[in-house]
Amino acid sequence: MAIYFFDLPALLGGALLQAPTTEVALVTLLLDSRRVGLTEGAVFFALRGPNHDGHQHLAALYAKGVRLFVVSHPPASLAPFAEAGFVQVPDTLAALQALAARHRSAFAGPVWAITGSNGKTIVKEWLAQLLAPDEDICRSPKSYNSQVGVPLSVWELAPGRHTLGIFEAGISERGEMTRLAQIIRPTHGIFTTLGTAHDAGFASQQEKLDEKLGLFAQPGFELLVYCADQPVVHAAVRARVLPALAWTRHAAPGAALHFRLKPNSAGTTTVRVRLGDADAAAHFPAEQPALRAASRFTLPFADEPSVENALHCLAVLLWRQLDPAKALAPAEIQRRLLRLHPVAMRLEMKAGRHGCYLLDDTYNNDLAGLSLALDALSRQARPGGRTLILSDVLESGLSTAELYARVAALVQAHGVTRLIGVGEAIKEELGMGDSSFVLPDSRFYNSTEMLLAELRPTDFQNETILIKGARRFGFERVVAALQQPQHGTVLEVNLDALTHNLQYYRQRLNPGTKLMVMVKAFAYGSGSYEVASLLEFQRADYLAVAYADEGQQLRDNGISLPIMVLNPGPDSFGQLRRYRLEPEIYSLERLHDYLQAAREATHDGAGPLPPLHLKLDTGMRRLGFSEEELPGLLALLAAHRAALPVAGIMTHLAAADDPSHDEFTQQQLTTFRRMAAAIEAVLGYPALKHALNSAGIRRFPEAQLDMVRLGVGLYGVEAGAEDAHNLLPVSTLKTTISQIKTLPAGTTVGYGRRGAATAHERRVATLAIGYADGYDRRFSNGQGLVLLHGRRAPVVGSVCMDMVMVDVTDVPEARAGDVAVVFGEGLSTSELAQRIGTIPYELLTNVSERVKRVFVSE
Ligand SMILES: *Cc1c(COP(=O)(O)O)cnc(C)c1O
Repeated sequence: MAIYFFDLPALLGGALLQAPTTEVALVTLLLDSRRVGLTEGAVFFALRGPNHDGHQHLAALYAKGVRLFVVSHPPASLAPFAEAGFVQVPDTLAALQALAARHRSAFAGPVWAITGSNGKTIVKEWLAQLLAPDEDICRSPKSYNSQVGVPLSVWELAPGRHTLGIFEAGISERGEMTRLAQIIRPTHGIFTTLGTAHDAGFASQQEKLDEKLGLFAQPGFELLVYCADQPVVHAAVRARVLPALAWTRHAAPGAALHFRLKPNSAGTTTVRVRLGDADAAAHFPAEQPALRAASRFTLPFADEPSVENALHCLAVLLWRQLDPAKALAPAEIQRRLLRLHPVAMRLEMKAGRHGCYLLDDTYNNDLAGLSLALDALSRQARPGGRTLILSDVLESGLSTAELYARVAALVQAHGVTRLIGVGEAIKEELGMGDSSFVLPDSRFYNSTEMLLAELRPTDFQNETILIKGARRFGFERVVAALQQPQHGTVLEVNLDALTHNLQYYRQRLNPGTKLMVMVKAFAYGSGSYEVASLLEFQRADYLAVAYADEGQQLRDNGISLPIMVLNPGPDSFGQLRRYRLEPEIYSLERLHDYLQAAREATHDGAGPLPPLHLKLDTGMRRLGFSEEELPGLLALLAAHRAALPVAGIMTHLAAADDPSHDEFTQQQLTTFRRMAAAIEAVLGYPALKHALNSAGIRRFPEAQLDMVRLGVGLYGVEAGAEDAHNLLPVSTLKTTISQIKTLPAGTTVGYGRRGAATAHERRVATLAIGYADGYDRRFSNGQGLVLLHGRRAPVVGSVCMDMVMVDVTDVPEARAGDVAVVFGEGLSTSELAQRIGTIPYELLTNVSERVKRVFVSE
């Protein structure tokens, strides 16, 4: 049942401000102006959050072709939006949710809701895998479980097409579950676990549990599946008298299903199923042939979380056996369980050959997943264009023709420049002459083998390549063929952690304060282009690099944000002009040079130089104009107002992180304000004043001025931060064990025999990282350590150029090929830096460029 834009005022309790020129049924809900795919039937909800306001992007959306808008604050004039429809509502998020709830009410089939602290996404994905042969399932993409994720997920439910919905619900504050419950209106549910996550938003764990269980206290709710081994959960479900089916591994009383587990040597687990006591009778009547026939199943996992998640799914499958129309042969249940595979939820970005980047998403391929992956691709602006290598799309319920019409529309809407299709269906639908799909550069193959036979890495230059394939196409082979060869050491950069840290600082900014992010020194070791590209997407206002070459490299990769250069040599001024890079000018001599260059550029007809940032020395005693030099500076600026446009006035704090120097810091700020005022008086116009670095943002909120300069905090470390736990580590340096030796007592290790002999036998592992990779030689002889299987292994002997040895006597399970964490989660750069008397900045920026960067995000 289609909903039209004209229905919205009545549906959402809003006012129609302007009717669109054409009457269309709503197809897609848009929330992010950066992710516009199809515009036909797309309605934009202008959401307002602490750090963003969708209303700012109405004009840009209109320019992209969006014609339907739901707003709380309409633009002053609707004249520029002549063809668009506008509905005004008091609260756009509430309106979005109300629309989704209305859409949900048209669906009569069962809807499963999954909540709990851990495992929601895995249980959802697995349940969908297990039921896929029998049902047409609509499920939340990835982990869309929030106040906006749930409405978007539920909107995808198609009454004529789907037979089952499976949605995740996640909350972090009181009151949120009630809203999600009204949107999902589950008929069935799974409660995974109760953990400690998000305790901050609740008065007690009990309160959090009550709120979560509220999801299932809905009219029409039929069954909750949960594990009775968590006593608080068990008690709360019973107190609420929810219709429920509990399972237990520890003979909890009142559980209908008893599972007894036996781990096998092959990494699998055998589950013996028994029916429980009185309660079981309600769910599993005595005559339960399917259960009786097979009371034993094997799960393809041994680790605790996977087993727990799989047991939730098994409980659901066993319950479905009660319905003769849905019952499966026990052998079929077993077959499906064995095919469960770990869910890779991360889209990995990897360096490819010939300047390419690979977005590796080879775990599934349905329309919702394709659309998300294309979003990620379209955010990349690399000069070589956007290539998509796509397998057949496995989606039930749509006719092949309709399915590929949608695929084609998505591909075109996301600016894909080249398509390589693999599979008979995609070749048939998009690769044949009569298809309406036209992409100048597209090729099709019947199979992955045929693609691999013709694949030449040299065919790809400086482009971003999304590799998206259903599992059975084995696209990991395509990734391997296009990936840069690597040695065992990688720096894994978590882009989600980076975004989290960015938001942490952004929340500390006053409204209107701009954010400059330092991406100097290869973005503190993380990789300049990838980080810059994320920052551009996240709408930072400015970037800063140390040298003009770094700025040029960002421009060459399509970065268009304003860029400041901290240390531009006089011979780089032409480069600054060509690449629109704004210099930091810190001395009269440089200012004279710049003036000279500006005159020459005008004379040659090359156009003006970019505006500059004046660096003032207020106490750092490094670079900058001191107060004594101010009169000379003012005179020069006054004489050449037009030739020397000033974008910013800045200073750098010497000890913003250290409370014992706060008086000095305050003095620096006072001096800065005084000097900046004098300069602005001469300029006759205001410039962006900026002083704070990461520690300053946190500690001197009153000195944010017009802009702040975020550095090391973005990368997850900040020297001396009291609230360091609010930051997430961004970089994990990993290496592998090349070989393990068992050394008898009395043996020395390595160069100069500096790994002294011990009185006992020991196991020593050689790792594939050395000082040429940036692993500091000061870590020699027990000063450094690495994490192996979660345990610490100290360095033995001297760090070599490409290798280092560690003692793994206490890590008996260590084997050649295992991954060792050199720094990252569980072993912080702060701790390691302290051990060798340096600071985290040095460890981060020392990781040499030969170490491959891998970028991951959920
Ligand atoms: C590096 C740098 C920053 C950022 O400092 P962090 O301590 O990393 O936050 C800010 N301003 C200038 C001038 C810098 O050189």
